[in-house]
Amino acid sequence: MARAYNFSAGPAILPEEVLKQAQAELLDFNGTGMSIMEMSHRGKDYSAVHQEAKDNLKKLLNIPDNYSVLFMTGGASTQFSLIPMNLLGEGQTADYITAGAWSSKAIKAAKKLGISVNELANTAKDVPTRVPGNDLEFTPGAAYVHICSNETISGAQVKEFPKTDAPLIADMSSDILSRPLDVSQFGMIYAGAQKNLAPAGVTLVIIRNDLAEKSPDTLPELFQYKHFMENDSLSNTIPTFPVYMIMLVTRWLLEKGGLEGVQKMNEEKAAKLYAAIDASDFYNGTAVPEFRSPMNVTFRLPTEDLEAQFVKEAAAKGMTSLKGHRSVGGIRASIYNAFPAAGVDALIEFMKEFEAANA
Ligand code: PMP
Repeated sequence: MARAYNFSAGPAILPEEVLKQAQAELLDFNGTGMSIMEMSHRGKDYSAVHQEAKDNLKKLLNIPDNYSVLFMTGGASTQFSLIPMNLLGEGQTADYITAGAWSSKAIKAAKKLGISVNELANTAKDVPTRVPGNDLEFTPGAAYVHICSNETISGAQVKEFPKTDAPLIADMSSDILSRPLDVSQFGMIYAGAQKNLAPAGVTLVIIRNDLAEKSPDTLPELFQYKHFMENDSLSNTIPTFPVYMIMLVTRWLLEKGGLEGVQKMNEEKAAKLYAAIDASDFYNGTAVPEFRSPMNVTFRLPTEDLEAQFVKEAAAKGMTSLKGHRSVGGIRASIYNAFPAAGVDALIEFMKEFEAANA
């Protein structure tokens, strides 16, 4: 059976070469007579996987030595709470930049802890969608500034990160490893794995060591960045299979020429798709052009009925999961690193046919 052109926003498509490698090693990893899922997370075979996953991430992102790479659980959503619990000192406040549903959830989780947070700018309800501009007034003495680099639902991406005095913390769940990055601009970066990294189950955290040190001792150990840093994320049983998949995906990225190479492929795919949207009056992009995400391409058709028909007919042709998020409707084509260029071409072809038949 042919693989689907899977436009899912996450869990999302993984590179076919990676899936084949995992398949080949499933019954017997490295001559051990068992899969990576079935062995101790403290044995030498898993240890080598753990180390390579971290090393590959360090290479791809040029992570400076004073940062730690942590593998946590609970998804990016758990980080929404762990960040204020770990990094907000007594009586301190934090700044939040809101550009959509995910950054809104981060601020909601922080408020739920009863702490005072400052919302600097909010474009969450803007249609067409965008991210806030550079005219932000940061709060002096804030513990950190939180931002979401790519709003998965609306399809708006931060192109240039704000310069802040306080550590900048970015939720990069839906665009991690899609473009080169200067990690030293950030105090912390985090991402759920299930879009550009691996299957669901592990959360990547890249944190400056002096920030991780701030974790209060009163927090349960497994909620502390410090505890993860000091124990190399191995204090309790780690989700070994997702980390192994991070290792394979990052290996694949290194073979593709690293993040410059991947960014070029992503930009080519996205440029073609946005050009097809712009060439037609039938399709309307939902993000302001300068903030268009190369990962999640969102657009509308003239009516919701036509959108439903579009999704259904595309699926019949093997192009799946094009339905926009239930909160906003419309169409969303998620074209992460692993999404093949041929799938974008197939979608553009189908868009032309559909317009000709229905406009
Ligand atoms: N942040 C962003 C930008 C996301 O896209 C998502 C998931 N779609 C989340 C956070 C939540 O991630 P998780 O389901 O891993 O908690």
